[in-house]
Amino acid sequence: MLSPRPEWAGTLAERGAACLMPTYARYPIEIASGRGCRVLDSAGRSYLDFAAGIAVSALGHAHPHLVRALGAACEGLLHVSNLYWTEPMVRLAERLTRAAGMERAFFCNSGAEAVEAALKTARRARPGREKIVVFERSFHGRTLGALSATAQPQYQEGFAPLVPGFETMPFGDFDAVRSALDESVAAVLVEPIQGEGGVRPAPPDWLRHLRAISGSAGALLIVDEVQSGIGRAGSFFAYQDAGIVPDMVATAKGLAGGLPMGALLTRGDAAQALAPGQHGSTFGGGPFVAAAAHAVLDVVLEPEFLSGVRAKGARLGEALEDLARRHELVIRARGQGLFRGVVLRKPRAKELVAALHDLGMLAVPAGNDVVRLVPPLVIAQEEIDEGVALLDRALAAVAELPSAAAGARP
Ligand code: PLP
Repeated sequence: MLSPRPEWAGTLAERGAACLMPTYARYPIEIASGRGCRVLDSAGRSYLDFAAGIAVSALGHAHPHLVRALGAACEGLLHVSNLYWTEPMVRLAERLTRAAGMERAFFCNSGAEAVEAALKTARRARPGREKIVVFERSFHGRTLGALSATAQPQYQEGFAPLVPGFETMPFGDFDAVRSALDESVAAVLVEPIQGEGGVRPAPPDWLRHLRAISGSAGALLIVDEVQSGIGRAGSFFAYQDAGIVPDMVATAKGLAGGLPMGALLTRGDAAQALAPGQHGSTFGGGPFVAAAAHAVLDVVLEPEFLSGVRAKGARLGEALEDLARRHELVIRARGQGLFRGVVLRKPRAKELVAALHDLGMLAVPAGNDVVRLVPPLVIAQEEIDEGVALLDRALAAVAELPSAAAGARP
């Protein structure tokens, strides 16, 4: 790893505040290097990484297979543009569509872009149908289209006029969505596990209901697997657990193990809906990021890897339920695989994350009363146990905070 104290140590918060747009309330931690499921800060302090770059670093940090693949890819092409064919992209589309039960891929650079591609495809595939049904507490990204699909007012505030046509329904409600689905609806967009909305898995029978009713209404079913996909929830994609096949799948985050890559996977008429010139991306699917995605798939699609994620996830889930029984502050644990949330009785997610930092562990809030645990998929059982023990201590520390301290952290 890195030498313990780089010459810039201790300067980044002040320098960054002067030159970066203030779009993030960053924690006072300067991350300098990482290996496996740990990162080091600029003072040489180690943190067990249950954040994984917000559910991104599927293989952890500096995974040898990914490092080798990227070293080799650097020697070849970094970029050539989508005006030409490149082998890593074509093979990646073949691998992803096969794993997803889809037919065609479009590559881009982020989750929001994958959602945008899905929205544009839906408009072209269902001309004249103006509505897209979305769900309460959803999160689909920050670009204007994806933001308009995000049914959480705090993200949308101040950005009007938003893209029209989105209709919000209660998440998990069978009847409301059935009554909303008429010939004005082009698509239904759903996260099989809401991430930013508080780690809420959709009931599998509700996902099957969505599949059935969108099909019979002539609407497309789009699943947003940006956060839940690429093995995070224990299956390659979380919708596969419900036994459904959507029309489009948006994915990103873990796909290239930390490099920016998104993909829209499509089938049926959605796969043919966009003609040359109707959508594009300068960088999308370039050979370097595609090499990273291949390295991730080499590991995640190994036989037994996903069953390992499910086993580790079950261990984490049981340990979190035990914490919920023992700590008054915790209502319950939610989630699947290595995509877990600890639901708090009070809006103290920031305090709990700060207490974890103090103990040497990273985790991410999902709203103000849920703390998300999304470690690298390669995490060891012992590291899971270590994380749970740190969480146990952090919960005890937060329970002792005076109420006035709540909200004092960034
Ligand atoms: N969709 C979901 C379900 C997400 O969780 C996110 C990001 O958290 C996005 C879309 C947006 O992804 P990105 O930040 O890569 O644009």
